[in-house]
Amino acid sequence: MSHSSTSGLDGTVSSISNVETTSDTAQLINTEDASTSNYTQLNKSVNFEDSDDEEFHGSHGVRRRQAQQKIEPGSMNVLSAKYESLDYDTCENHLLLDEERKRGYPFVVWKDIARWFIILLIGIATALIAFTIDICIEEFSKIKYRELKKSVDKYVVQDRLYIPYLLWVLSNICIVFIGSMLVAYVEPVAAGSGIPQVKCYLNGLKVPRVVRFKTLVVKTVGVITAVVGGLAGGKEGPMIHSGAVVAAGISQGKSTTFNKDFKVFQYFREDHEKRDFVSAGAAAGVSAAFGAPIGGVLFSLEEGTSFWNQALTWRTFFGTVVSTFTLNCALSAYHGRPGELSYPGLLNLGKMEPFPFQFYELPVFMFFGAVGGLLGALWNHINYRLTVFRIKYIGSPWLRVVEACLVAAASATCGFLMMFLLNDCRPLGEDPTKVPLQLFCADGEYNALAAIWFQTPEASVRSFLHDPIGSYKPWSLLAFVISYFLLSSWTFGLSVSSGLFIPNLLTGAAWGRLLAIMIQYMLPSNTINPAKYALVGAAAQLGGVVRMTISLTVIIIETTGQISNALPIIITLVVAKWVGDFFNEGIYDIHIQLAAVPLLPWEPPPLAHNIYASEVMSHPVFTLRTVENVGHIVELLKLVSYNGFPVVDPPLADDVEVTTYKRLRGLILRSQLIVLIQNKIYNENANTTWSNFNVDMNMFRKEYPRFPSIDELNLADWEKTCTIDLRPFMNPSPYTLPHRASLPRMFRLFRALGLRHLPIVNDVNEVVGMVTRKDIARYRVWRHRGHMGMEELILSSE
Ligand code: ATP
Repeated sequence: MSHSSTSGLDGTVSSISNVETTSDTAQLINTEDASTSNYTQLNKSVNFEDSDDEEFHGSHGVRRRQAQQKIEPGSMNVLSAKYESLDYDTCENHLLLDEERKRGYPFVVWKDIARWFIILLIGIATALIAFTIDICIEEFSKIKYRELKKSVDKYVVQDRLYIPYLLWVLSNICIVFIGSMLVAYVEPVAAGSGIPQVKCYLNGLKVPRVVRFKTLVVKTVGVITAVVGGLAGGKEGPMIHSGAVVAAGISQGKSTTFNKDFKVFQYFREDHEKRDFVSAGAAAGVSAAFGAPIGGVLFSLEEGTSFWNQALTWRTFFGTVVSTFTLNCALSAYHGRPGELSYPGLLNLGKMEPFPFQFYELPVFMFFGAVGGLLGALWNHINYRLTVFRIKYIGSPWLRVVEACLVAAASATCGFLMMFLLNDCRPLGEDPTKVPLQLFCADGEYNALAAIWFQTPEASVRSFLHDPIGSYKPWSLLAFVISYFLLSSWTFGLSVSSGLFIPNLLTGAAWGRLLAIMIQYMLPSNTINPAKYALVGAAAQLGGVVRMTISLTVIIIETTGQISNALPIIITLVVAKWVGDFFNEGIYDIHIQLAAVPLLPWEPPPLAHNIYASEVMSHPVFTLRTVENVGHIVELLKLVSYNGFPVVDPPLADDVEVTTYKRLRGLILRSQLIVLIQNKIYNENANTTWSNFNVDMNMFRKEYPRFPSIDELNLADWEKTCTIDLRPFMNPSPYTLPHRASLPRMFRLFRALGLRHLPIVNDVNEVVGMVTRKDIARYRVWRHRGHMGMEELILSSE
């Protein structure tokens, strides 16, 4: 066995070895045969066994070769190494134990009260943001459409309708331009609804800048401009992201954007605490968006949070109730009915009547579900293709702004053409539209399509749900469905902040109504209730796109205020999900896969019990000794980018060259090492510059979450000869598994406990390998048109 001397860290970094070491290791843990047979069973996207051996040299063998792969635009079988994990595991080091001992039970009670108080603040703040967004959208839209109506009324008689058309296009472009510039140049992570990013965060991944204050500001302005700018987008999705940012900000008592530490809630500056608050914030966002407190809790449970417990359910529910209540108070007061509490959420679908349904209608609901599933899958596919095109050809920010403006112009053009070409007239007074446009209709009538386009998409959903039968001609509905379906698919993923809930509800409500007309035509003896089918169509379309079931059912029930409509909606959503899943993934998962995020699914891949830790792990492992030399630590941190290092027994004086593995003593994080060096907690300085009494957990919390990088530390030469005793700071009891543990067992540890690092040990507790989330997430199940298999993804350095 040969050891490379590349790092100069021999002795501290356990055996930086080459290929020979790799095969040696396999023999040592005696699983080589098993591994070969497993690999042949996998439907691998890359055949590692065919790889050129020369590329295996160095510390990482296969993994290094993988890390050099570049992400092909549109590739769905790559994981990016740039995403780091959150750490849900508590580091039970001496400092924490000291803190617990000193503070005792009063501190536990105090912390609990603080948690509830923070949730209260999160609920209120989320609701106030929702209120601001709602009022701005309503007021600006009112001005915009009033002016446009005036212009149409003026120029239609002069036969110069191109003037209001140009005005419409121009106003859309100008408004969207502002939001798009902000997103493209100030904070790109604020684009879209933010739900995929929040989902990743709750799954245990750090998505850079996703919960920053700057992101919140850009998101808020962005969503206002997107909706007022006439794009086929909604404000509901972004509310979920906003709630998450509010939660992350308030619970930490500091702002990274402003570099301001309010010196409160320091004890919540840990990944697992922060993530619990973010779950509650996202739920509060859903609650404010839809006026659906239970839907909010279920959304966090179904879509996001990987780690859930009863206490979190209670707190999250409290947050959602506070959020919807605060928004209700504020909106009711704004609309001149203080105390009436009739505006629970941003999305107000209007109170629906309970619709009676017959047994024989169940197949009809299933049919609606199937149509929703098919259309949803098509919508997702179109959006996927567009996203790949964007990744390939619309890379620079200014091009993204141009595209957003183009879509804004296209939206106005679609609306105008439909109003102009389809003269769908309706008598005035039947529709509560605020801006009835006469256009070419007779006196006392107004253009039904103009009414749909000259209001916010949310108001249009209401129109489709509540307008009486016969309000729209079938051709108008068909034209609207086609244009809005394409526009909304084009809009999602643009460099603007907007969601997809409302546009899909709108498209679904329109084709639901269209199908209702067709059913009425086929069964003239029955009186069909168009509202019923519009609602079921809306649910089916949205369910087909996002593939949510439980939370979406509850959200729709809470938004429409009718529990008795639950069964048709459940049937529709379940069928929509089944049909859609047959063709592709839900839209959020597609975007997550396109971003190469190592998200852990709910379940481990099936038939994977014969894949062993010894095949999944990285080895040899970079380790540190219990008492380590500062120079070595700095060198190691500069050499590799890993975030966790097993701490092992120092070698006996005479076995440096002989023993390959060292006994595990604990695990230490890169961030902890950096803070220790930054504060010069060297053994040589003990009792002069620091002592055990003034080193506590706050030293680490002060820097959380943005720890300095190793290159930012300026070290004098003398410091490099000093040593640090890592024992009081490391996690002395990290979760470990033996090398013969199976993939599902490792998966469950990562998924259920939210681990970041899992050292693999041999029979005598010596570190033989390291497994992280990316090693586990690499094994992924694929399903396509009834077929199923497992693929091994490529780890990319990008
Ligand atoms: P994260 O990025 O999730 O915060 P990390 O940066 O420590 O964790 P990863 O980026 O997930 O680690 O690791 C990339 C690869 O490096 C994985 O295959 C993992 O097994 C391996 N690896 C991680 N830490 C070590 C280590 N100390 N020694 C050797 N290999 C490691």
